[in-house]
Amino acid sequence: MSIIIIVAPSGAGKSTLIKKVREDFPALKESISFTTRAMRPGEVAGKSYFFIAREEFLKRRDQDEFIEWAEVHSNFYGTSKCFIQGELSKGHSVLLDIDVQGADNIKKSFGDVAKAIFIAPPSFEVLEKRLRGRGTDDPEVIARRLKNAKQELQRRNDYDYVVVNDQLEVAYKELKQIIEKIIR
Ligand code: ADP
Ligand code: 5GP
Repeated sequence: MSIIIIVAPSGAGKSTLIKKVREDFPALKESISFTTRAMRPGEVAGKSYFFIAREEFLKRRDQDEFIEWAEVHSNFYGTSKCFIQGELSKGHSVLLDIDVQGADNIKKSFGDVAKAIFIAPPSFEVLEKRLRGRGTDDPEVIARRLKNAKQELQRRNDYDYVVVNDQLEVAYKELKQIIEKIIR
């Protein structure tokens, strides 16, 4: 079994691609993270994330409930240790959608069991256009995410695979092949 990590700057198209992965790889267990971020329109509690207050997040963190956690774009995000350990012990592969800090920490803890795939936009300008076009975030939030994206994009060649999400179908085909290779 493997831990498949999808890592990307905000707006690169990670959620869009993961939606397709979910349909094609039903046996892959998707980790649902805990976050202190506010829910966006269209998100479902317990499906998109477990949305919790900052105090509760810190309590869970102090009780060692997260296998990794990070502060991303001014909110906390964490991966459930119980979920990951449970699925791996059942021999299932898991899918994580986490940031560069989380990817680094999981790679450190799990070595070769974890494979990280970086999703890159074709350019910074396209990333900006997609983030604005998505229409789910306030201008300040978009500005913060774009600023962070500059840093995150410098990490694109530090992971096991890179997929450039220009044409969605082309990028997905590539991603699908990579996942098939990892779980085979
Ligand atoms: P992320 O989860 O990485 O933040 P999303 O999946 O929400 O990004 O995608 C950001 C926006 O870009 C969405 O509006 C999505 O529909 C759009 N998008 C994603 N992939 C593509 C693509 N290949 N071409 C054009 N638009 C895309
Ligand atoms: P968003 O707010 O757009 O859903 O996610 C913002 C960033 O947080 C994305 O890069 C996403 O991958 C990352 N993220 C989501 N869940 C986790 C998590 O559990 N741990 C870490 N480290 N990052 C996460």
